[in-house]
Amino acid sequence: MLRVGRFAPSPTGPLHAGSLVAALASWLDVRARGPRARWLVRIEDADTERCLPGLGERILAQLADCGLLPDDPPAWQTRRTDHYQRALDRLVASQWAYPCGCSRKDIEQALAERGIAHARHGERVYPGTCRTGLHGKPARAWRFATTRFEAARGDAMLRWDDRRLGARQQAVGSEVGDFVLKRADGPWAYQLAVVVDDADQGVTDVVRGEDLADNTARQIELQRALGFATPSYLHTPLVLAADGDKLSKQNGAAPLATATPAEALAALQTAAGVLGLGPAEAATIAESLASWVARWRDLYNPPP
Ligand code: GLU
Repeated sequence: MLRVGRFAPSPTGPLHAGSLVAALASWLDVRARGPRARWLVRIEDADTERCLPGLGERILAQLADCGLLPDDPPAWQTRRTDHYQRALDRLVASQWAYPCGCSRKDIEQALAERGIAHARHGERVYPGTCRTGLHGKPARAWRFATTRFEAARGDAMLRWDDRRLGARQQAVGSEVGDFVLKRADGPWAYQLAVVVDDADQGVTDVVRGEDLADNTARQIELQRALGFATPSYLHTPLVLAADGDKLSKQNGAAPLATATPAEALAALQTAAGVLGLGPAEAATIAESLASWVARWRDLYNPPP
């Protein structure tokens, strides 16, 4: 079987110590599978408001400085919007997606009326107002019919195995609800874009940061609704900022200095440390990467 892995950064900032961990881990997982496996990079710029011009190119240059070169030309989500539209059309045709006319205020009101102030990770579970029709309101967003899909499947609990975190489960309908596929302000939602892209690019093995683990159940439901295969998942440890939160641009992650080989090697060594690979007794980037590939194979035993 042809194994395909990917690194899928959002160009909201340059590569930093946290995102390099995901990049290195996904690269090692592919290289540990032998010469036929392929490593792809996808620039997730679908959220045009948060993505800044030039940062996709900057991330690609930083990866190249670190010796992490994709096997195919990188994909850009903003060039793939017709694929997302086709997937949404299919979901609508099979009644797994519906238009929603609710504003944020409508949603708050409906929740308050039911006495629910249910917030999960800052996201409110959608009360389902438009599940049975728009009630005369214009369509603003499109949602996945999670509850309807789960009822048809006869199982409200989605289970999967993470290669590092082990058995995981989530009741998507009650914990997340009918999530958004296309946002009211226009952009395609991450959940839909990532599922369509992973399927189109033949991704068999997803390796990414642990902060994204919570999205996996939603993505597996979408894969099933669209008839796509489900890849394997491995969520890596996170780099924490001084405040204990995941390191991100918002809490002060500095852009990675990778311009000289010494800087790039130092950045890679830190990332390898986070992944539990230990220091490489090697002087060059290429030698270090090769020694981490061998250790990755011992730790995660990826099939060829
Ligand atoms: N674009 C997402 C991020 O940078 C990652 C998506 C993924 O790996 O599934 O957080």
